[in-house]
Amino acid sequence: MSEVLKIAIQKSGRLYDDSVKMLKDCGIGLKNGINRLKTEADNFPMEIYFLRDDDIPQYVEDAVAHIGIVGENIVYEKNKQVNIVEQLGFGKCRLSIAVGKNEKYERASFLNNKRIATTYPLLVQKFLDKNKVNAEIHAISGSVEIAPGIGLADAIVDLVSSGSTLFMNGLKEVETVLESQAVLVKNKNLDSIRQELLDKFLFRIRAVKKAKNNKYILLNAPNNKLNEIISLLPGMKSPTVLPLAEPGWSSVHSVLDENDFWDIITRLKEAGAQGILVVPIEKMIL
Ligand code: ATP
Ligand code: MG
Repeated sequence: MSEVLKIAIQKSGRLYDDSVKMLKDCGIGLKNGINRLKTEADNFPMEIYFLRDDDIPQYVEDAVAHIGIVGENIVYEKNKQVNIVEQLGFGKCRLSIAVGKNEKYERASFLNNKRIATTYPLLVQKFLDKNKVNAEIHAISGSVEIAPGIGLADAIVDLVSSGSTLFMNGLKEVETVLESQAVLVKNKNLDSIRQELLDKFLFRIRAVKKAKNNKYILLNAPNNKLNEIISLLPGMKSPTVLPLAEPGWSSVHSVLDENDFWDIITRLKEAGAQGILVVPIEKMIL
């Protein structure tokens, strides 16, 4: 019972669903229980703690939880003694500067002697120092976007994904302070048992991430076009080629990186490929 890996995830909010899904994709289910503070995992020696995202770095620093899932924005703002071990590819957003939609912001010097409302005072101060700007930071705990409208601030620094909240409050995004996504953090002094468990967990996370970025592709090709088609396909080692029942034709199977996908598909069609099927991959172990 004591030799479990304790992970802290957000109790509810924008990271909750994706955090639970990531565990599930790694073969780790959550036992249903009435306890909303913590639960055990199925199939893996893990205990899951549900916390406010702001508190996760502190709990991981103190080894109350060995690891945690939290946004980079929170990790850098809280500045606790934890290590980032992996970027998880979800919870993407930007910490951005926004000003009234009619203001003329060209560079950071616009902020000189202005008042900035934010829930990220540390990151804002770092940004100001880097740009040699003197401004007054008003650290508030929420609803930052209304601060200019009520005369509390001339600019804000807040998280943005679509920008619609800013727009509704008569603001425009003018500069990014930090690009952020969810990351896995760990306590700096894990014992060897927890480190081993973390390595197992990481192995699964990487297999899932890799699979998400790749697609399995199957296509039919006339044999006289095979060489050209194969040269377009990377495959994990090299493409698989199987004869079709119809003479003169083959079936070609391969794995494609999502980023090259559309480009390669177009070239495959031009090269004479037919009946192209693309299917998602669940796990990928290299
Ligand atoms: P908690 O109650 O846990 O403190 P919260 O209200 O502080 O929750 P959420 O709004 O649920 O936090 O956001 C959690 C994290 O999701 C953010 O810290 C950030 O990393 C990420 N995120 C992704 N997109 C956005 C967005 N558009 N706005 C805010 N956060 C976002
Ligand atoms: Mg929070």
